[in-house]
Amino acid sequence: MDFIDAHLHFGGRQEEIMGGLDIYPGLIALGLKKAYILCFTTFGLDFSDAIRVAPYHARAHYHPDYVDANNLLQKIRNQLEDSDFIVPFLDFRIIHGDVESWLEQYMSFGYKGLKTLFIPEYDDFLKVDSPADILGTTKATYLDWQQRVMDYGDKNDLCLICHLNLNNHFEYAREFLANFPHLRVNFPHLGFSRKKMRLLFDNFENCYSDISGLFDHIKKDPNGYSDYIEHYKDRIMFGSDCAFNEAKKAEEYLEIVADLDLKEGTTRKLLYDVAVEFLGGP
Ligand SMILES: [Zn+2]
Repeated sequence: MDFIDAHLHFGGRQEEIMGGLDIYPGLIALGLKKAYILCFTTFGLDFSDAIRVAPYHARAHYHPDYVDANNLLQKIRNQLEDSDFIVPFLDFRIIHGDVESWLEQYMSFGYKGLKTLFIPEYDDFLKVDSPADILGTTKATYLDWQQRVMDYGDKNDLCLICHLNLNNHFEYAREFLANFPHLRVNFPHLGFSRKKMRLLFDNFENCYSDISGLFDHIKKDPNGYSDYIEHYKDRIMFGSDCAFNEAKKAEEYLEIVADLDLKEGTTRKLLYDVAVEFLGGP
């Protein structure tokens, strides 16, 4: 069955990524049409600063020479026979200063969407400092930088994957959706709260989510999740949340989705249609 992996991480050690490319022909044979790959970018910062906005468990995968995804992305496109499935998203979690100039510079590289990890203050769960602290600025300035990117997305009919914990930052999420009505926003992992996610789905048509990172939870409560996905079938996407060279795990996740026994139309929406609409059409 055709599927889109709407949440795949990218960036890191060249040898890990280049050595893992052989998984893709198999995934494409299985039905992989597109992968929305979230490209870690540095916006000119030193590695030692940029790396502090990556969660601890992910840091070992990054390397100073390739912490900015642009170079490696180009290499992969050259090396893979079929690289059409690659849909790069610009990770702007640490964008700073002259935001519009950075965007002009990076977006010309072919990014189709935006991605951020929203951390207005120290994140206790991820153990990650706010970019405001790392860059030595105020929370207000950080918010301004982030929202200027959202404004750019709103004006340019783009989509945004915004990693944000609704248990802590629900009001920000609501504000983004209200202030940028043309920006299609995916708060992934069902926002870490199905209850709060529901409030956003019911009130904002530009709100989306994905089930990446939730497969262990889904296995424990298949009926709860299948009811929820049926109800919000026009908003929820499939994603693996894997590193680029570990995307083979998607096979196992597809089986977990199959075990949910969703209606056929719902499965198709979850695996494919919603992600196409989120991106703004085929
Ligand atoms: Zn993720």
